[in-house]
Amino acid sequence: MCEQNAPVSALGVDDLAIKIVCDNNPYTSKLNTAWGFSALLTGAEKTILFDTGGNGPLLLDNMEKLAIAPDKIDVVVLSHIHGDHTGGLSSLLEKNRQVAVYVPKSFPKKFRENIQKKGAKLIEVKEPLKICQDIYSAGQLGKLIKEQSLIIRTKAGLIIMTGCAHPGILKMVEAARDSADGDILLVMGGFHLEWATTGRIQKVISAFRQLHVQYVGPCHCCGHRARSLFERCYGKNYINIGAGKVIALAKLPSPGYRDAQSGVCD
Ligand SMILES: [Zn+2]
Ligand SMILES: [Zn+2]
Repeated sequence: MCEQNAPVSALGVDDLAIKIVCDNNPYTSKLNTAWGFSALLTGAEKTILFDTGGNGPLLLDNMEKLAIAPDKIDVVVLSHIHGDHTGGLSSLLEKNRQVAVYVPKSFPKKFRENIQKKGAKLIEVKEPLKICQDIYSAGQLGKLIKEQSLIIRTKAGLIIMTGCAHPGILKMVEAARDSADGDILLVMGGFHLEWATTGRIQKVISAFRQLHVQYVGPCHCCGHRARSLFERCYGKNYINIGAGKVIALAKLPSPGYRDAQSGVCD
């Protein structure tokens, strides 16, 4: 993925924003919540929807409330096959067939064929690949449930977005960092820690700190306990994510700010 002639510059963060369209955690009361995850990235070369939540009408309704026009989406990236991440796709494709849909190569044949039948472009992901300028899939990871994460290269560092992190959140973060080769600004999405013990959660948090992850936005399948422990350790570098949250990247402190978490980590 890191071509030898890859441009040194990365996306400026001024116009980059991530809108949480679906999450089981609430953030603004005007949006509906249901088990699942979906987030929209704007301000890059392409407008990218990462996952689609579990329910088409809810996805479209939340998009409308966030003033997101379905026909403005260029790319859909599906992290993994579970219905709480893929369930909204059909309804979206009814509104916009002109999208490219990136799925792990392991997706069932019928699912992949349906995407093409609806008229959308199908891209099957195995190895890390470039989606557009400074935006990549980290490639298909995992054994039982294969999953891809999204990597955004910004001047302030890498943003890594995960759906459920079934292959293990640390494995996914390390793979993303290795393939994109940069410091990590933010890791956000589902970390699959809902059923993890406190000890396991603490190990993940201390590994995040060793990896110099500057900001965290655990949501979806992270669970209340992990979210609280991340918040306690990361302090003001913890981003409270729920349906309707908008993360404007320009509002995060400038690059060079690291290891300055204001919380209590022990
Ligand atoms: Zn899942
Ligand atoms: Zn999930």
